[in-house]
Amino acid sequence: MMQKSHWIGEVQSGMHDGKEVELKGWVHRTRGSNKIHFIVLRDSTGTIQCVAKRDALGDDSFEDLKSSLIETSIILKGMVNVDERAPGGHEIIVSSAEVVGPVNPEKPFPITESAMENADGGETEFLLDNRHLYLRTGRMTNMLKIRSSVFGAVHSYFREREFTEYHAPSFVAGAVEGGSTLFEVPYFGRKVYLTQSWQLYAEAAMPALERLYTVAPSFRAEKSRTRRHLTEFWHAEMEIAWAGNAEVMEHGEGLVRHIARTLLDERSDELASVGRDLDLVARYADSPYPRMRYDEAVETLQGLGVDIEWGQDLDYSKEKVLTQDFEVPHFLTHYPRIAKPFYHRPDPDDEKYVLCHDLLAPEGYGEIIGGGERTWSEKEILERIDEEGTPREPYEFYIDVRRYGGVPHGGFGLGIERVCSWLSGADHIREVIPFPRDSRRVTP
Ligand code: ATP
Ligand code: MG
Repeated sequence: MMQKSHWIGEVQSGMHDGKEVELKGWVHRTRGSNKIHFIVLRDSTGTIQCVAKRDALGDDSFEDLKSSLIETSIILKGMVNVDERAPGGHEIIVSSAEVVGPVNPEKPFPITESAMENADGGETEFLLDNRHLYLRTGRMTNMLKIRSSVFGAVHSYFREREFTEYHAPSFVAGAVEGGSTLFEVPYFGRKVYLTQSWQLYAEAAMPALERLYTVAPSFRAEKSRTRRHLTEFWHAEMEIAWAGNAEVMEHGEGLVRHIARTLLDERSDELASVGRDLDLVARYADSPYPRMRYDEAVETLQGLGVDIEWGQDLDYSKEKVLTQDFEVPHFLTHYPRIAKPFYHRPDPDDEKYVLCHDLLAPEGYGEIIGGGERTWSEKEILERIDEEGTPREPYEFYIDVRRYGGVPHGGFGLGIERVCSWLSGADHIREVIPFPRDSRRVTP
């Protein structure tokens, strides 16, 4: 009863033509008459039309099926019939049926058939309230599969290159990205924070492991709700010893291209189903990503009439304009020192700048990676901390990494949901995470 022997995706691919199969799944749609009843059955691999006739099933079983509402779970046995007219080219001629989990007619599935079918990511409040049920729509299922492949690609990229997976705590005492987006947590009479990034703790292990990475949640109290910010997002981060900004960028480019390639190999159908142009994804997998200095970006923007002054960080309104016409992702490097936190290393060639990079995705998606070379000598880190007016105390452990055998090193952080949104062509970041968290919503 528990094991599954056949999958709808297999049947639709022609693996069981003319044979008897046993399918376990959920009623996706139904219609019919007193003699013949059609069920579109869904499992995690697809949907298929099943035809049940009163004559073949007997009255009791036929009535059970006929009264099964949407999202009832059932087990059907039947012959696989090749039929061009059926969606997917196959249908099941049902010989027996068993209802496993009925749905009470007094409390039918709240999301309508057509909302299930036509889910396009433009979720209403009602659908967000019913997120736990919305996960069953074809669109969300596809997004979750795409997401899974992105995680797999991150692990394979780093593991194939001798990086060690390494984990940092989620409760921390100091900020990485600045105080304004820190979540405070009461902690036995003290205040601690939820981590914004694995970076500082990764740097501590850098002299031990030299090449390390993680995929873990990061937390940021993003007050303004945007299409690209979550308060809890999954963060792929890496840190590498004996490397400068250029080597770190090579890994950033390598990783993103590997993710795009993996999606083409594993999830072409899902990408096409959510409306993504596969040629674009192939371009992102195959093309090199140009490097552009911050100064050039500012000039380009000023040329486009955008109100920006040298020294400002680029917020999304600017990234959007800049990336609208990009054909491929671009790295922006050498931001002004005053725009970036203390751990970015000043450029020895011109100390007005730091050796950092953001990777900006095209089509107006904007930043997907932030990274760079770290300030790595004790003298320089103390200077940077003091000039920023940051207290040294919470960062003593971080300064120690420099006191005891500091070496050049760097790393980056990639937002998994940013990459999933961009590569799937989603309109909103919450489309690519099952239970999105933002300033307003923590339920369901
Ligand atoms: P932004 O300016 O877009 O808010 P950031 O400069 O704060 O990004 P970093 O601190 O460099 O971002 O974080 C590394 C990566 O983590 C970003 O490039 C992005 O992909 C992702 N990221 C950052 N904040 C969020 C968020 N609130 N929700 C989802 N992803 C995020
Ligand atoms: Mg931010």
